[in-house]
Amino acid sequence: EIDRLSDLEKLKVLGHGNGGTVYQVRHKITSAIYALKIVHPDCDTNSRRNILREMEILRRTDSPFIVRCHGIIEKPFGDIAILMEYMDAGTLDTLLKSHGTLSELSLSTITRQVLNGLHYLHSQKIVHRDIKPANLLVNQNMEVKIADFGVSRIMCRSLEPCDSYVGTCAYMSPERFDPDTYGSNYNGYAADIWSLGLTLFELCVGHFPFLPSGQRSNWATLMCAICFGEPPSLPETTSEEFQSFINCCLQKDSNKRWTALQLLSHPFVAKDRGSENQSEIKSL
Ligand code: ATP
Ligand code: MG
Repeated sequence: EIDRLSDLEKLKVLGHGNGGTVYQVRHKITSAIYALKIVHPDCDTNSRRNILREMEILRRTDSPFIVRCHGIIEKPFGDIAILMEYMDAGTLDTLLKSHGTLSELSLSTITRQVLNGLHYLHSQKIVHRDIKPANLLVNQNMEVKIADFGVSRIMCRSLEPCDSYVGTCAYMSPERFDPDTYGSNYNGYAADIWSLGLTLFELCVGHFPFLPSGQRSNWATLMCAICFGEPPSLPETTSEEFQSFINCCLQKDSNKRWTALQLLSHPFVAKDRGSENQSEIKSL
């Protein structure tokens, strides 16, 4: 475990978030490269709460499908920092912007990894609550890992009603807008599956499903589309397997939505495409 900021050399900024910055850093002694997320001491209490939550979740997770934490650096009156494995190909959001839409073959590989990650989290009673392309990190080996646990929730902790408006509202499932279901015994895992469905949809067609390409919308219009509209379906040009998979994720009734474990045996991800797949991924 690395526990001193002075052992690390900042190389560049990888991204900015709420109240914090993610840097690419080099460990001076081993030369290993990491990502370091620092929350500034003067940030608001919300950002502080988020990084504490993220720290706690990263400390207890241990999976090849979740970004690894290599150390937590806390100074009594200063910054809090999380040292993470560096994912050298950025996020699926930046990949979409640089490479364009992804093929079904790539998407099936990506999906399998995210489902493994979600199944792991859900079995540890963790709901991510902010699954979207920008929070899924990629490396050159085309490994995909779930990151950004700032608004996640550990389910066993308390019975307080869910504070539902966290995360990015565009990817929120219909039931999260409905206080009746969301407040009671609803467990929240299904909401991650909805967000996964929208994420894959976007990576396939190139724009966020509820909005036509390039159009921006306000919160109310979007919420109406999610809650009262039909769930989006993929273009006819996609395979039946992929369409069926997306339908299983985008069931408006959270009880009908498939779980991560069920989805892992869906033909879209379960079918072994072997070497065909490997060469496809390498060309990205
Ligand atoms: P936001 O609220 O905008 O989602 P955030 O504060 O929640 O930001 P993250 O999503 O964890 O922070 O990280 C912000 C950005 O930094 C990411 O979108 C990504 O581009 C980059 N980043 C984060 N972690 C890593 C990592 N381990 N390896 C490489 N890049 C990373
Ligand atoms: Mg993020």
